[in-house]
Amino acid sequence: MRTLLTEKFDLAIVGAGILGLSSALAAARRGLKVVVIERDLRAQKASVRNFGFITVTGQDREGVWSRARRSRDIWEDVATRARIPIVQRGQWIAAQRPESAAVLEAFMRTDMAERCELITPATAQQRCPNLRTSGLQAVLWSPHELRVESRDAIPMLADWLARDYGVRFCWQTAALSVTPPNVETSRGSVLASKVVVCPGDDLVSLFPGHLADAGIGRCALQMLRLESPGFELPGTVMSDLSLIRYGGFAKLPEAGVLRGRLESEQGELLQHGIHLIVAQGSDGSLVVGDSHHYEFCDEAIATERVYELLLTEYTAVIGRPPPRVRQRWSGTYAVARDRIVLMEAPVPDVRLVVVTSGIGASVGFAVGEEVIGELFN
Ligand SMILES: Cc1cc2nc3c(=O)[nH]c(=O)nc-3n(C[C@H](O)[C@H](O)[C@H](O)COP(=O)(O)OP(=O)(O)OC[C@H]3O[C@@H](n4cnc5c(N)ncnc54)[C@H](O)[C@@H]3O)c2cc1C
Repeated sequence: MRTLLTEKFDLAIVGAGILGLSSALAAARRGLKVVVIERDLRAQKASVRNFGFITVTGQDREGVWSRARRSRDIWEDVATRARIPIVQRGQWIAAQRPESAAVLEAFMRTDMAERCELITPATAQQRCPNLRTSGLQAVLWSPHELRVESRDAIPMLADWLARDYGVRFCWQTAALSVTPPNVETSRGSVLASKVVVCPGDDLVSLFPGHLADAGIGRCALQMLRLESPGFELPGTVMSDLSLIRYGGFAKLPEAGVLRGRLESEQGELLQHGIHLIVAQGSDGSLVVGDSHHYEFCDEAIATERVYELLLTEYTAVIGRPPPRVRQRWSGTYAVARDRIVLMEAPVPDVRLVVVTSGIGASVGFAVGEEVIGELFN
């Protein structure tokens, strides 16, 4: 058997997406000796294809909201230390219908609305002049969100972990089997007392039986990057469609009425699982998404109609024609009907960790702390 690294590690992590890097950070901060094994040359999957949107407000109270708050605080600290630019702060939710204003009013009566403001369109016009406010019912401002440019942030996070904490990275190395203290890889074996497997939506390489038994599937999403519109959005923008998607809003009784109206008025968008997020990068370009397809989930097939629908909703919310499309891409992530996070011990000294809804950027750091706490305490 070939040996890839001769030294022995306290912890090996499979996967250098946000979950793997979050686990690496939590372990390294305990003084543990960590190695990360990643199949690709750099993280290339969901963690770099997303909005980089660390969302707090609207997250489901059950299992998400507290983790999102904790992760947000860690992101803030890590971004400073690793010199990762925070490119946007806060979010604006434009309520286009009276039914969505009712959802936001109900949300404001919960403790999750702490430091959020529900403002009139006129006030929103003053504070966010580039948001189309005519015809709006109300606007929710949340100060909690952060946004990073994931394509830059995730590699910077890995580099910082290597530089400041001595985390070893084995790139272009597939983990083939995990039986501590042995991890067999495509380039030889690695020795580690414990192992955390963060495979994202690779449901077949490691512990496929456990992932199948847990009912884990995949979801495919389509995204766009538009050229700079020539104006600044001082925060990420969402609209009515998000209020029936994020559990913190969607589980409020008022959301049922909104859902009924959206089903009759925006049925095609709902069919494609579309809700609008418009985020802006430091070069002014806009990241616009996203759609959700759960069946026949092939990221190689992007549907032009979905892009058209996204751009139509963009125009309705932003109130101006969209700038030229610079990039189109798809991504996938793991999903399950009955849980937010899978955290299992398929064999002793191993944890298999999968975020099973599209919130890994928002909760990853908190989940990493939990996994390492549980494995090493
Ligand atoms: C288009 C899109 C938009 C999104 N928007 C948001 C958002 O706004 N906010 C938010 O919070 N979340 C968002 N998400 C979800 C979020 O990106 C994911 O939940 C998160 O990135 C999952 O992280 P991960 O580390 O588990 O998986 P991944 O990023 O998929 O990383 C898993 C890594 O493991 C590696 N790997 C797997 N098996 C092996 C093996 N056997 N050996 C070696 N390496 C292996 C893979 O190569 C991969 O690099 C979005 C996702 C997508 C696709």
